[in-house]
Amino acid sequence: MYYRLIGAILLLPFFGHSQINTCGNLMLESSLEHRYEGYRDAVINTLTDVKESTSLRDGDTLTIPVVVHLIYNADAENLSDQLILDQIAVLNQDFSRTNPDVSNTRDIFSDVAGTAHIQFELAGIDPDGQPTPGITRRQTSVSSFIEFDFAVYLQALVDCGVDIFDPESIADNIDCITERLDILELDKMKSQSTGGTDPWDVNKYLNIWICNMSIDLGGNQTPFILGFAYPPMNAPNWPSDQLPDDYAAVDGVVLHYEAVGPNNPAAGQLAMTNNRGRTATHEVGHYLGLRHIWGDGDCSMDDFMSDTPPAGTNSQSDDIQNLPTCEELQQKDSCTDDALPDMIENYMDYSIESCQNMFTNEQVTLMRQMLLGPRSSLLESNVLTDTPDIQDETLTLYPTLTSGIINISKLPDTNLSYQVLGVNGVTHLINTDLRHPVIDISALDPGIYFVRVTIGQQSTLTRVVKY
Ligand SMILES: [Zn+2]
Repeated sequence: MYYRLIGAILLLPFFGHSQINTCGNLMLESSLEHRYEGYRDAVINTLTDVKESTSLRDGDTLTIPVVVHLIYNADAENLSDQLILDQIAVLNQDFSRTNPDVSNTRDIFSDVAGTAHIQFELAGIDPDGQPTPGITRRQTSVSSFIEFDFAVYLQALVDCGVDIFDPESIADNIDCITERLDILELDKMKSQSTGGTDPWDVNKYLNIWICNMSIDLGGNQTPFILGFAYPPMNAPNWPSDQLPDDYAAVDGVVLHYEAVGPNNPAAGQLAMTNNRGRTATHEVGHYLGLRHIWGDGDCSMDDFMSDTPPAGTNSQSDDIQNLPTCEELQQKDSCTDDALPDMIENYMDYSIESCQNMFTNEQVTLMRQMLLGPRSSLLESNVLTDTPDIQDETLTLYPTLTSGIINISKLPDTNLSYQVLGVNGVTHLINTDLRHPVIDISALDPGIYFVRVTIGQQSTLTRVVKY
């Protein structure tokens, strides 16, 4: 999780810091350990076993089907299809090391920079076997999915002996704080009955929920958690009594709507630091088994990766009035026993997203092992095909990613009709007497559409992405 600073909440009234950037994974893990004693050990055992046992299928591109559940209250939270597509594109770049800022990786780390060869694609078939754009939308009455009482939080800090001038002190005492806060009902966005959206089968889809996770700080709505994710834990070796009972109801990734990117018009104060779509990259890293590079502790705590240099702290920059440049951030060296500075380029740090550009080889290896091991059902789910009701193989539409022109594979020997539908079912274009096998959607806004083509008794429904 981007636990990027509960500490910032604490510091806010003292220093006027205006940014809170929180990966919630530390809180989630603490909460799970509290409910299921042995959870942390079991996660580590799973990581260790997978590292020792699973093949890699080096070079094969592994594709994960994704469903995005957008849950909004205010209209500004109702992010566009295009932004979601752009976010998926960022994931695909970062997980194939085709991101445009690859060259910013320092020479000292270029040898260990890894290519995951993992791709993400919006699902084309829903759990009922019907065509889908891979995006669900729900307007909810819930204004924020984080219930937070600042006074209770302050009291917890006092009770737990937190040093308010030391942000690391929060992390050191996270278990105590978690126990005293009854705020960690983090998963309400994942159930219809609590204002959210039920997951699609977590064994077949990577479920990504997007919702509001802000809290009210002195009248300002402030992001409390940017994202969190459950790590893989359905490995064969997993002791069943250490599995959360409701794992199949909560597995997946959650993103704060302001942290979805790139170039989110609703980014607010995150525009300076977290507007490249890399909160999702970070959280999917957790979903595939990665930990924070500083090991959530001092220099003695490890992330189980030998090619990430030890780090004793995260690299978050809180003061958006005085943000460091990447070059300045690169001077950070929190553990001086080793020869290397902190790897602030790593997606699993909390550095400014424009300074991030890499996973390491060992991180890539672990993610692939997780995907080929505990999460392998995702690769066999057959929910990507987007023409389930095609009646004649010779009738197909191409390309399905287009700036305007869509070709129809079969020359009609009779009148052809087509209909272009939006994600919400609204008809945008219709033509019932067409003899030329081309459809032009260049006048439509970028987004996802369904195109239904009928020739005589034949019909096909195809999902098309207009860019
Ligand atoms: Zn995290």
